[in-house]
Amino acid sequence: MTAGKYHMNRADREIAGRDELLELLKAGKYTTLALCRGEEPYVVTLSYGYDHERNALYFHTAAKGLKLDFIAANPQACGTVIHDDGYVRDQCMHYFRSIVFRGTMAMVDDPAEKLHAMEVLADHLEADPEKRKAKLRRMDDEAWKGLAVLRLDIAGMDGKKYG
Ligand SMILES: Cc1cc2nc3c(=O)[nH]c(=O)nc-3n(C[C@H](O)[C@H](O)[C@H](O)COP(=O)(O)OP(=O)(O)OC[C@H]3O[C@@H](n4cnc5c(N)ncnc54)[C@H](O)[C@@H]3O)c2cc1C
Repeated sequence: MTAGKYHMNRADREIAGRDELLELLKAGKYTTLALCRGEEPYVVTLSYGYDHERNALYFHTAAKGLKLDFIAANPQACGTVIHDDGYVRDQCMHYFRSIVFRGTMAMVDDPAEKLHAMEVLADHLEADPEKRKAKLRRMDDEAWKGLAVLRLDIAGMDGKKYG
């Protein structure tokens, strides 16, 4: 179960507008994800692509590793994307805009969705997405087998800014 909406202590710093939240999510390139297996926490940083239609994030990764073990044990995840607007010297302040999102992770096995996910990632991250997409279309079955794709369906998102 993901936590529901919790009031923000400094409500004056909340980014309440969905458009602004999505703008930050689309501008971000990587997120630090919090996972949990029993009482054991794990954080891992991953590049992502945002799928607007699905309101989901896609990730690509090797087909095995600790984060996959955590996700298999518990698919609930929470992540943050930070836009660092700079430390203000001598004032003990750091300007930022950031997002915290929660959702459920799923392993994507369907080949068509895997390709779609990698195209979403290309659109999100690459300067020349079409070049990357052409490479994806040339990938053989063996290469696809070695590539795991994860989808995080976003259940909730908060934003906060300072400065
Ligand atoms: C900006 C950024 C973008 C990244 N993008 C991707 C991506 O798109 N896809 C991807 O698969 N990986 C990405 N990585 C690497 C990612 O953070 C992990 O290292 C990688 O996914 C392996 O994770 P795992 O849980 O399978 O670790 P494993 O290979 O199973 O290793 C687990 C062990 O290594 C330690 N560990 C794992 N990752 C890190 C780390 N980053 N720093 C220090 N210790 C670590 C863990 O604490 C644990 O002890 C990115 C990293 C950064 C910083």
